[in-house]
Amino acid sequence: MDQHQDIAQVLITEQEISNRIKELGIEISRDYDGKELVLVAILKGAAIFLADLVREISIPLSFDFVAISSYGADSRSSGVVRLLKDLDESIESKHVLVVEDIVDTGWTLRLSYIVENLRSRKAASVRVCTLLDKPSQRKLDVGIDYYGFTVEDKYVVGYGLDFNGKYRNLPYIGALKPEVYGGG
Ligand code: 5GP
Repeated sequence: MDQHQDIAQVLITEQEISNRIKELGIEISRDYDGKELVLVAILKGAAIFLADLVREISIPLSFDFVAISSYGADSRSSGVVRLLKDLDESIESKHVLVVEDIVDTGWTLRLSYIVENLRSRKAASVRVCTLLDKPSQRKLDVGIDYYGFTVEDKYVVGYGLDFNGKYRNLPYIGALKPEVYGGG
């Protein structure tokens, strides 16, 4: 079974992703020059983005992972978030860049939880880098410091982003056919 068949439309090609990550890498390398930088990726969606991004950053850095989970009858609206996997190393006095796959409703849920959590550990700074930004969904203004692309209000998969755990290994960002997710 070829999972490309489930994609209605390629929204961002592999080449476009690669070009944009090179630009982000240059920007981040310049902004954090001389600072102790730790990238903290949120599993699992940001893992592929992190792997490509760190190889475009030229200054010394380390990276770590957290896993967080929303739960409750309606996790999206309840805003209850739980830490499933914590950092391995202390971030005290370090400059932290949170790496996220997509910011949708944003500051209200995952991101606000993780940013506040990391700030409370006396990091020198905590900023956010997301591959995709979906601003149309957002009720609150969120402090995104770096973003790769803006996407329209569609459910997207690929390049780390999943639907029911699948499609993360697609090399591009695409929109699923409605029949795949039971819509339309
Ligand atoms: P937020 O807290 O910003 O509303 O939720 C962000 C999280 O929701 C993302 O990290 C991702 O896991 C999920 N998400 C939001 N929009 C999409 C989408 O279009 N596609 C996929 N695969 N996940 C999404």
